[in-house]
Amino acid sequence: MGIPVDKLETLMDNYGTEERIKEYIRRCVSFHGFAPPGLLIGVFMVDLALEKLGANPNEKLYAVAETPKCAPDAVQVVTSATMGNSRLRIIETGKFSITLNRGSTEERADGIRVYVDATKIRRYPMLNLWYTNDPRYERVAERDRVYDEIFEAGRSILSWVRVKVSVPKKAVWQAVQCAVCKEMVPDYLIEDGVCTSCAGTSYYEKSADALHQ
Ligand SMILES: [Zn+2]
Repeated sequence: MGIPVDKLETLMDNYGTEERIKEYIRRCVSFHGFAPPGLLIGVFMVDLALEKLGANPNEKLYAVAETPKCAPDAVQVVTSATMGNSRLRIIETGKFSITLNRGSTEERADGIRVYVDATKIRRYPMLNLWYTNDPRYERVAERDRVYDEIFEAGRSILSWVRVKVSVPKKAVWQAVQCAVCKEMVPDYLIEDGVCTSCAGTSYYEKSADALHQ
């Protein structure tokens, strides 16, 4: 899955992709590990959101991605709003959409929401097959045309809107020791003195020969 990097460079040259976008794309592909359609479209989305917000990518920005697929990496690499620094939230609506805003001390911050426009994308048949998860997409021999269409389309498949983003409150918490595993956990993740892992919802099992070192 994804287009090889040399073909990607050729396509960007053929369609006259702007140098700024090319550089974003190179960095995103290097981070993501390959170049799927969603990552490339994600770059155009972030670029459009930055422009409409009047922001530069080095500012301290906050973001929401409405899908966990591909788009978050375009946000993380281009804007440095990441899951790890808590400036990127994934609020899954299933829509291919991102929102960028600056920090605010108010309850709401002015933001720009960019989304793939279902009407506009219909002008690009292969891209539309991919976007609608149409089973025919996997069967057509010339499905790599999706990449041509992505660069032909650029931001023309996107729409944007000014929004007020609710600013999450900073959580106030204390560290508490779990009565069972003795590891430290924020108090809001402890119930009856026991962490969620020990309460039985752990994502892992200890191997039989587990050693505590
Ligand atoms: Zn525990």
